Amino acid sequence: MTPREAAAKAIAKLPNAIRIAGFDITLQIVPVLESHALNQWGSFSALTQTIQIQAVMPSVYKVIDTLFHKIHHAICWCYDIQDDDKEERVASLMGTVWLQIYRDNPWLARWVLSELHGEK
Ligand SMILES: [Zn+2]
Repeated sequence: MTPREAAAKAIAKLPNAIRIAGFDITLQIVPVLESHALNQWGSFSALTQTIQIQAVMPSVYKVIDTLFHKIHHAICWCYDIQDDDKEERVASLMGTVWLQIYRDNPWLARWVLSELHGEK
């Protein structure tokens, strides 16, 4: 299996949504051309409460990196983290945030371990 095929397989296993701070954020796979038009691997929209991930990725690592990146943008919106927030506030909040995310989305840890290490 090529890295690109492994990435496509990982993307196909993603569920339809991730719960962040009580919001069910839709996970949507978008065609490569649509995402390239925006010059990015994915996006987060607070208006539609959607994380979009490009359908074609170079590797599983880029899929996971992109998903985490977009989850962090969603976290900033859901938990109202601002650009000028102090590091200690953000670090403290992130502990709580990730506790909530792993409690409400047990698939996430399993999916990451499965894609990185082939664990079931
Ligand atoms: Zn970004």
